[in-house]
Amino acid sequence: SLKGKTAIVTGSNSGIGLGIARELARAGADVVLNSFTDRDEDHALAAQLAGEFGVAVRYIQADMSKGEECRNLIAQAGVCDILVNNAGIQHVSPIDEFPVEKWDAIIAINLNSAFHTTAAALPMMRAAGWGRIVNIASAHGLTASPFKAAYVAAKHGIVGMTKTVALETAQEPITCNAICPGYVLTPLVEAQIPDTMAKYNMGRDEVIKKVMLERQPSKEFATVEQLGGTAVFLCSDAAAQITGTTISVDGGWTAL
Ligand code: NAD
Repeated sequence: SLKGKTAIVTGSNSGIGLGIARELARAGADVVLNSFTDRDEDHALAAQLAGEFGVAVRYIQADMSKGEECRNLIAQAGVCDILVNNAGIQHVSPIDEFPVEKWDAIIAINLNSAFHTTAAALPMMRAAGWGRIVNIASAHGLTASPFKAAYVAAKHGIVGMTKTVALETAQEPITCNAICPGYVLTPLVEAQIPDTMAKYNMGRDEVIKKVMLERQPSKEFATVEQLGGTAVFLCSDAAAQITGTTISVDGGWTAL
């Protein structure tokens, strides 16, 4: 059980981050939810999780594109036993047309934020004598696709940083690993289905299997619950000697 541990999950008011926050809460951890917004529903989500699992849940607004706000998130939480670097965005464009501001935003949110949160959280983990860092990379942290230069660069970058942090903490009761999901049916991905159906003149099932899951041999989406379960496993005693590595949850994508 993760009772008594506090987990900070960046970018956790939807999708994979929320799924991971839910499974950590189910395992008994207190949770800090985060995004860049500060809406009533963000705080309501925290109250709902707290009620459902009987743990303490707070929502802290912080923009992961800004280094100082990343560090402030950890400072404001005051304690960080488990850090899940999940916040991420995507933009698809050929590299010679890639908007500079999109490149900068993707590198800032998908890569730099994890540098800042990790730097701020490690002293707290050392003081507590225990820590787990779980970076949400991607199959695109291990392989590439055209038109995703910034995303692939950021995700390969976070896999590299994961290894370095693991080496720097290797003789401490702290681990640092990356989870590499394939396609996950988050609201973000769900929203792309109608347009893709129209573009290819295909039905929902056909567009999912033939277009979206083209590179995912299982032809099934990974789920946010499965990613949450993987994060909980990395926080368990069984995973104490797993550090500096990646766990793919991608239906066989990287075996191809
Ligand atoms: P999502 O859009 O549902 O969730 C992204 C989260 O990040 C949201 O909570 C959003 O509010 C937050 N976020 C965005 N910009 C932020 C900012 N500036 N500051 C703070 N929070 C911010 O997408 P998702 O699919 O759940 O993606 C989560 C992570 O998983 C990302 O790192 C993504 O690259 C990775 N991933 C997703 C898939 C997939 O198929 N969905 C596959 C591999 C990896």
